[in-house]
Amino acid sequence: MKLRIIIPSKSSFTKKMPLLINIFANKTENMSNESSAQKFTDVNELGEFGLIEHLTKDLKTYQPSSVLTIGDDAAVIDEGGHYTLVSTDSLVEGIHFDLMYTPLKHLGYKSVIVNLSDIYAMNGRPRQIVLSLAFSSKYTVEALEEFYSGVRLACDQYKVDLVGGDMTSAPRGMMINITAIGWSDKTKTVFRSGAQVGDLICVTGDLGGAYLGLQILEREKEVFLTDPNAQPELDDFHVLVGKQLKPEARADAIDMFEQAQFVPTSMIDISDGLASELFHICQQSKTGALIEESKVPIHSQTEKLAFDFRLDPITCALSGGEDYELLFTARQEDFEKVKYFTDTAIIGKVTASDKGIKLLSSGGKMHTIKAQGWNHFQHP
Ligand code: ADP
Ligand code: MG
Repeated sequence: MKLRIIIPSKSSFTKKMPLLINIFANKTENMSNESSAQKFTDVNELGEFGLIEHLTKDLKTYQPSSVLTIGDDAAVIDEGGHYTLVSTDSLVEGIHFDLMYTPLKHLGYKSVIVNLSDIYAMNGRPRQIVLSLAFSSKYTVEALEEFYSGVRLACDQYKVDLVGGDMTSAPRGMMINITAIGWSDKTKTVFRSGAQVGDLICVTGDLGGAYLGLQILEREKEVFLTDPNAQPELDDFHVLVGKQLKPEARADAIDMFEQAQFVPTSMIDISDGLASELFHICQQSKTGALIEESKVPIHSQTEKLAFDFRLDPITCALSGGEDYELLFTARQEDFEKVKYFTDTAIIGKVTASDKGIKLLSSGGKMHTIKAQGWNHFQHP
């Protein structure tokens, strides 16, 4: 999950730090801290995906059961008869949530949902979660009870079991980490890498709403900070606020696929915006994509609010994020199944990699879509 990552460009770790106890440096040549000419690199130079790749590229895989490690929505572990799926995400106060407008019950619910969504994105079923919390002394028992009531609600709704976790103190704020464990049929597990040229590109639900939900909550927060007697104006946008504060994972789409005996060729959940997720599918499938703006599903509240904020609704859909809808590709011969799917739109098709990732605007112009992790996508 990349959403809303803010890393100060000059953190203290970009400078040379003296080691108090230099045990490793003395014993391990490669970890020596002595070279005064050592170059320190800002993490923003690599971007999120570059950083993950950089830090993990030398890791070996020892277990034959580790079928798929880094790079998809969940890791895939071969259990013999089926695959076990594992995915983890963290939410940090001040980065991913603001308690001025996030009820703790909603936060508990959302923390579970964002993890379950990654398991569904593999065409799998979540079964268990583990939950680790680090929180400061400002959190009371009652506040944590509220948070857990949301966790419990999500567990009841999606029939998953909270089977463990960890609890520790933090100097300030709260950090939530959840790991979801799921299951998938070996022959029906869907990866980001399976899209083929000619496949249909499809998306569930509508896009851009969660991002605009966040914008209106932020706006009302500013109004409240200036005038604490002001009443928030959220009624016209309850769908968007709901999508931001209490999203759902698309378990219903996975049920629908199963009933139709349909298996997507590739799939990813939309946590970072359509552009970024398309980029992952195309990069891993070694394909391009052509999306038609007029086919991208956008809720009427999203359109209205986008215009209020002087934003282009398609930009919100492409680079907004946190919608937790599913982006998937389907063989052309599955069109007869896909066209009857509820709450699903066919928005484009998979092209050859040399065609790039393109958006055909409603005005008939072709644009190149670029998406780079936490860097903003550009829309020339
Ligand atoms: P998602 O948006 O679906 O949650 P991410 O973009 O967070 O996925 O992660 C992409 C891939 O990188 C996943 O396979 C994830 O497990 C892996 N990954 C993310 N952070 C790290 C890390 N610090 N170390 C190793 N792997 C990581
Ligand atoms: Mg994901």
